[in-house]
Amino acid sequence: MTKSREKQTIDHLIEKASTYIESKNELELIKKSYEYAKEKHNGVLRQSGEAYINHPLATAIILTSVYADADTICAGLLHDIIEDTDVTKQDIQDKFGVDIANLVYGVTKISKLHFSTENEALIEYYKKIIVGMSEDVRVIIIKLADRLHNMRTLWALSEEKQKKKAKETLEILSPIAHHLGIHKIKSELEDLSLRYLKPDIFYDIAQNLNNTKLERDKVVNEMLTSVSDLLNKHEIKHEIKGRSKSIYSIYKKLEKGKKFNEIYDLLALRVIVDTEQECYTALGIVHSKYRPIPKRFKDYVAMPKPNGYQSLHTTVFGIDGYLFEIQIRTHDMDEVAENGVASHWAYKENKTLVEGIRSSTEAKLEFFKSIIELNEDKMSSEDFVNSVKNEILNNNIYVFTPKGDVFELPNGSTPIDFAYRVHTRVGETTSGAIVNNNMVPLSYKLKNNDIVKIITNKNQNGPSLEWLNVVASTQAKNKIRAFFSKSEKENYIERGKDLLEKEMRKQKLIFNEFLSDENINKIIKELKLNDLDELYLSIGNNKYSANYIISIIIKKEQKTKEIIKIHNISSDNNIIVEGIDKVKVNIANCCNPIPGDEIIGYITKGNGISVHRNNCPNLANLDDRMINVKWNETIKGKYNTPIVIYSKPSDKALVDIVQKASLLSVGINSIKTVNGSEETIYEVDLNISDSRQLNKLMKELINIKYINNVMRFIK
Ligand code: MN
Repeated sequence: MTKSREKQTIDHLIEKASTYIESKNELELIKKSYEYAKEKHNGVLRQSGEAYINHPLATAIILTSVYADADTICAGLLHDIIEDTDVTKQDIQDKFGVDIANLVYGVTKISKLHFSTENEALIEYYKKIIVGMSEDVRVIIIKLADRLHNMRTLWALSEEKQKKKAKETLEILSPIAHHLGIHKIKSELEDLSLRYLKPDIFYDIAQNLNNTKLERDKVVNEMLTSVSDLLNKHEIKHEIKGRSKSIYSIYKKLEKGKKFNEIYDLLALRVIVDTEQECYTALGIVHSKYRPIPKRFKDYVAMPKPNGYQSLHTTVFGIDGYLFEIQIRTHDMDEVAENGVASHWAYKENKTLVEGIRSSTEAKLEFFKSIIELNEDKMSSEDFVNSVKNEILNNNIYVFTPKGDVFELPNGSTPIDFAYRVHTRVGETTSGAIVNNNMVPLSYKLKNNDIVKIITNKNQNGPSLEWLNVVASTQAKNKIRAFFSKSEKENYIERGKDLLEKEMRKQKLIFNEFLSDENINKIIKELKLNDLDELYLSIGNNKYSANYIISIIIKKEQKTKEIIKIHNISSDNNIIVEGIDKVKVNIANCCNPIPGDEIIGYITKGNGISVHRNNCPNLANLDDRMINVKWNETIKGKYNTPIVIYSKPSDKALVDIVQKASLLSVGINSIKTVNGSEETIYEVDLNISDSRQLNKLMKELINIKYINNVMRFIK
């Protein structure tokens, strides 16, 4: 870790930058940024005890090692001032221009993210977010340089924090550096992470490398001289160097079960030539003298890696029988291999390419292609491009809470989607939204990087059905629907209680006397219900008649044990479960299948099999608990299933709907109406025999000229 002891002064930074930045103005701007940052961080110390300005300065120096342009270096110097001082984005824009301000702001946003590395999916998600959020690739590179310096000074933190940072670095940031092809930064991040995550192993490997260093150096030097002589004899101008493996890459091989002395590419050479043609010529020459190991040859020149890496790799039996890994590439390829995307800065003629990467969507796609490594075995490049396009460019946006938590939402999402993503309770009490400090309507379409604050009103009764037309995420849709079906349930409970009271009056029973705790328990037990509410519910939704409930207690009056409707609990006859004779079967009340629908069973925990429509989204992730079921066509029954009707406001609508239904002998359990300004929504709960009857009805309804749409409904 000698790098951390490099002298780090502004002069040193300018010296490094001026090796590739010629413009006096740009160098002046770097100095000016330094002075400004120094002034703003004045008096603040880092955990390590040094002045805070050393951190942005060191970050900027790291940026010069990947040939970052002047704007990026300035932003590197300023990267912590929005977060840590009272300086605003506008202040930076006024002083240093909009480009630098945007870069600093971009880094600030990423720094505010709270990462968690709990599981694989989250890690993937965060990588995507960092990439998706950074409209400018330079933001990510500054973030990587920032992290690299923090990792170099990690010793100053508590052990717990060291481990957390190291894990986050290894799982989120170094893969991004890899995908961007910035090998230099990636490799140091990995070694530093390992040092804190598994210090025993790290120092063990370092020790081993040290012990074998003398011998390795000797062999490598002999081989190097031999190969170099060979190339000179064939008049191929070249550079050649011995190459050391990073500790982390050795660790990875040890982890795969290799022994230290079996890692033969510990001995490695790199040959750098002028042209692509010479790469192959050099390879041929080396192979003519040193026998290659079959299957260890890789041609990344003809087939570059997704991150742009190009090189020929071969492993040969070298002098004294030692195995050598040799990489052969051109100077340009070497530059890309070390600095990845950042390498474009090194060449003036590629300036336009960098501009391109920053702006056009097409170039952005190219950029994403390099970000997420293409797994050639699993995905064609076309599939890959499409998936990236869908996932990042078209379908999803990233928005923030004022605290900096980030949420991924489908494109077209509104503050309501956002609110439901934060918490169901927030969604249900949403009364307004502030986006980027401006009040917006709830139908406002959120854009990437919006900062969203939701205004809630605890007294609000819940969502409005109209929100269903506004929200874009399935989550919000489901939650809103669930809310209404919950209210519906409450209605049924009330209705059930009413019906029971009425029936008791008819039979001259006294309500409170009849419903003693003892009697309630008896009924609940008999019907396998959970509580009194569920009992009322079962009466309210016509599963049991009030008379039947009473008859359970007053046996002598039990003349008619009637189960009025099949509805949710079916007998085990109307649905046939593959391979099982007697089992409890429930018809799911999220998607309410009816005969004729394609159905599938889901094995619940302790409540038999619940039968869903094949396309019910509630089943998406439950594969291993599925079981094949089918309708028993010999049994006829009536089933509840809801539909939604979208209609232009019309006085006749309600009458027409009821009439169409009754003409086809379809029962209607309830109709809920929501009046919008341009559209009225009717939620109609039908009592129907099968999908043929339903389709007929839906066709009749859609033919009514003021009705816009008729749909089945999944809660
Ligand atoms: Mn920082």
